[in-house]
Amino acid sequence: MFYHSTRGKGGAVPASKAILEGIAPDGGLYVPSEIPKLDVSMEALSQMDYGQVAYEVMKLFFTDFTKEELQACIQKAYSAEKFDIEEIVNLTEQGGVYFLELFHGETIAFKDMALSILPHLLTLSAKKNDCKEEIVILTATSGDTGKAALAGFSDVPGTKIIVYYPKDGVSRIQEKQMVTQEGENTHVIGILGNFDDAQNAVKEIFQDEDLKQQLLEKGYRFSSANSINIGRLIPQIVYYVYAYTRMLWEKINFVVPTGNFGNILAAHYAGRMGVPIHKLICASNENKVLYDFFDSGIYNRNRTFFVTSSPSMDILISSNLERLLYEAAEEETAGFMDQLKNQGSYEIRDSMKELFSDFVGGFASEEEMEESILMFYRETGYVMDPHTAVAKAVYDKYQKETGDGTMTVIASTASPYKFLQSVLHVLEPSKEDAGDEEAVRSLWEISKVTVPNAVMEIMHAPTLHNRVCEKTELKNTILDLLNISKKSYL
Ligand SMILES: *Cc1c(COP(=O)(O)O)cnc(C)c1O
Repeated sequence: MFYHSTRGKGGAVPASKAILEGIAPDGGLYVPSEIPKLDVSMEALSQMDYGQVAYEVMKLFFTDFTKEELQACIQKAYSAEKFDIEEIVNLTEQGGVYFLELFHGETIAFKDMALSILPHLLTLSAKKNDCKEEIVILTATSGDTGKAALAGFSDVPGTKIIVYYPKDGVSRIQEKQMVTQEGENTHVIGILGNFDDAQNAVKEIFQDEDLKQQLLEKGYRFSSANSINIGRLIPQIVYYVYAYTRMLWEKINFVVPTGNFGNILAAHYAGRMGVPIHKLICASNENKVLYDFFDSGIYNRNRTFFVTSSPSMDILISSNLERLLYEAAEEETAGFMDQLKNQGSYEIRDSMKELFSDFVGGFASEEEMEESILMFYRETGYVMDPHTAVAKAVYDKYQKETGDGTMTVIASTASPYKFLQSVLHVLEPSKEDAGDEEAVRSLWEISKVTVPNAVMEIMHAPTLHNRVCEKTELKNTILDLLNISKKSYL
């Protein structure tokens, strides 16, 4: 199995190289040369635990890793130490629909599903490619990726991680999770700016050839933990195969609250591997650029950006969509991406649209999301976080319109404790502005869901990171952290 770029330039590379590089040299995303079919039966998979299913999926994609290597990665990632339930993910039926809870990892959001294994895949990939340098992970985060990457890379030998987050742009719990992060090799810095500023500054650093050279001389090499890395994408296929094989229904729908299009793309890959998917329902919040795309064939990012209570879906450029587009547009992909960059939009032909017929787009407003949390709680007692609630609201609308009776699983991407204030705003407004401890207790009383360790731990944890920098100062913070003198750099 080899990987090549969606933009068509450059040869095929093995998985380990694609993982190490993250993004292809021509700026495209790595895609596998084919999507393999599962080579064990669904019945056999239905008897396997999460780690075993993970191996059956990953062995087909990461073919330059040995069985022992892959199994060691899987064992380290999906352990009782890192997840608060033995099953790793939980499939629960509530009010006639199933929720696939992907938030039982260390940072209580679905990013843990992939970021718990990425560090192990990455350090092995470095070895396989004779990379002698220490790997420096640079990540800009709007909240969830940062903490999950910190937890994943904390004290992993041969790596350092530096995370930049918008100082005033993340939830209280999210910030607390990051600034209390332990680990000799972890660094967290608040940026005086918004997420786009952080993201752009990090992108500039990746393109700075002088800096790259300077780092190499000192024995460092940059890499990234963001969601376009196939080392994140492939591990996400596993839970769709796992969920389907718990039930072995004739057909299945998945509803996925979507931002960067990584999670739902993994579901699509699971379908191509053999899971009998009827519809993939792509749920957006008010930033409904994907809904419009599936509806009209026009992707247009020239629009108002809304800040919502589901911040991990507040995104206007869904990077991973490029991989789906490539399935239909092939060598035209680079042209569409140029249009997106230069004009902010592109339009695909009808014949291409037909190839995406397993996808249905939907969106929910803030009001519909809140209504969904409230009504579903009254009906079932189950408390959804705002991202999951967007998906539920979209599914309800879809069902009403189509009458589709296919068994359906909603990807539940975050614990309600992670978005405490937004959830209390709906269910117990009097506690919305309470202190963290009181707020946590209040949600516990409402939901009867055990408070996750991730929340307990940070309540009294000391702040270990308090650095703040201007958005123009990013490079200096890196030189400083890596002990590279600015003088020798100049
Ligand atoms: C990242 C994230 C999403 C969006 O996932 P994508 O793979 O970017 O589409 C949804 N919900 C939560 C809680 C997230 O952290």
